[in-house]
Amino acid sequence: MRRPVIAANWKMYKTREETSLFIREFLPTVSGIDDVDIIISPPFTSLALAADMVKGSNVQIAAQNIHFESEGAYTGEISSGMIVDAGCSYVIIGHSERRQYFAEDDGQLNRKVKAALGSGLSVIFCVGETIEEREEGKTNDIVGRELVKGLEGVDMVNVSIAYEPIWAIGTGKTATPEQAQEVHRYIREKIAGFSERSEAIRILYGGSVKPANVRELMSMEDIDGALVGGASLDPVSFSQIVKYKS
Ligand code: PEP
Repeated sequence: MRRPVIAANWKMYKTREETSLFIREFLPTVSGIDDVDIIISPPFTSLALAADMVKGSNVQIAAQNIHFESEGAYTGEISSGMIVDAGCSYVIIGHSERRQYFAEDDGQLNRKVKAALGSGLSVIFCVGETIEEREEGKTNDIVGRELVKGLEGVDMVNVSIAYEPIWAIGTGKTATPEQAQEVHRYIREKIAGFSERSEAIRILYGGSVKPANVRELMSMEDIDGALVGGASLDPVSFSQIVKYKS
């Protein structure tokens, strides 16, 4: 049995004040939930505050990116050790916005995954195709390449995958549960090619997940969680997503 995981990706939203307001409102609504991993990924500036506020609760904090070196002359960058120091237990690596706007490639992402795991973090590794790639029938090729190259030589124990079709991110267009399930199954099969842990790996779906569609998505055999952008910014809607079973 894979333990479900619901993760918020706040992207470049929320000041420390807004983070604090969110957590104060959100935490009591999910207290006592012990059968779902709950993760919030604020921007760097709010990580330490968020981690302090959730200490002792059932909520964990993730960063949205790290640099692959542990320290050095890399102006503007943050290392895996620094986000551990801020109180994080997870990091999102390879989000399509990082790949698209910051030119992060498979080789860099592979180094980031190894750096994160080496610092004791768990990783949510993102993969997904554009609408053009899907229409050309290349979804499996793209997702397969991102997995094999990005996770080359990686011990998969603390790695989860997020399948995020780029055409479904922030667009309101959700992949149907069947479309998502098909790719999730493919991801599991692909991982079986280089890891014995494929049946234990959690695969999250991301792309316009909302309170209204999360239950159906989570009912699919190979969908073990959700990575939520827009709908995670409001404590009420994120709480409803976390409580998808009720
Ligand atoms: C995301 O950015 O990871 C995401 C899935 O965004 P949204 O839920 O807004 O589509």
